Amino acid sequence: MSAYSLGSLLHEGKAKRVHATDQPDLVAVEFKDDATAFNALKTAQLVGKGELNCQISALLFELLARQGIPTHYLGLGEGEHGGHWMLVRPVRIVPIEVVIRNLAAGSLCRQMPIEAGTPLEPPLLDLYYKDDGLADPLLTEARLQHLGLLDSSQRQELERLAREVNAALQEVLASVGLILVDFKIELGFTADGQLVVADEISPDTCRLWDRGIADSDDRILDKDRFRRDLGGVVEAYGQVLKRLQGVCPQPEVYR
Ligand code: UDP
Repeated sequence: MSAYSLGSLLHEGKAKRVHATDQPDLVAVEFKDDATAFNALKTAQLVGKGELNCQISALLFELLARQGIPTHYLGLGEGEHGGHWMLVRPVRIVPIEVVIRNLAAGSLCRQMPIEAGTPLEPPLLDLYYKDDGLADPLLTEARLQHLGLLDSSQRQELERLAREVNAALQEVLASVGLILVDFKIELGFTADGQLVVADEISPDTCRLWDRGIADSDDRILDKDRFRRDLGGVVEAYGQVLKRLQGVCPQPEVYR
């Protein structure tokens, strides 16, 4: 028997559903098999993707927690609510997508005269305003201040956490032969005002290249396989999970 029971659907996004539980300090996140790209202009069902992203996120959140980086993650679900279910602390999501880039790719190369694959040292941090209706526009410091989403100490804390996440992820992924090209995280405030890493960390939200493969398409193990119709999306995500399971402790079931 679980220590909680599921309540109503609180929110449905493109890749996840968030459900209340009978405990005010606990919500359940269900990872969907839906794949979307280009602001949901391209959609598909990829059987098994939800479970893979849930399991990969759980491994990475546990790893971050062990390194003292606060996250919303509490544990995996079990039974009929196992596999693609995760238990997390409820947070008020900050409507900012924080992107860290170690190598140039994606929108950076479309918008700037920077060649794909160029190393970025120090890693570039880009903030985007999270609003699908506006297609997640790039934020400037002035726009951020104008919107009043964060005060200056919260802004600093957000950047510090994002850079710590980058260092931790780069290290573990490098240890299994993966290059962390770039990634997006979302952060939120808990009821007691702590800023924590939330949402997911998965091949849907990170660009990951296999260090051992030279071919620029074959090395891709992330959502670019879906965006660019390269095929083998679920297989690539499965590779990422398998490699991480080899070096990360097994995530615990929430009880
Ligand atoms: N990303 C994401 N959600 C978004 C936008 C970007 O998870 O709504 C991730 C994306 O997978 C990549 C990184 O953030 O790992 C940087 O994405 P970029 O700005 O290059 O945009 P894209 O090329 O994906 O349009």
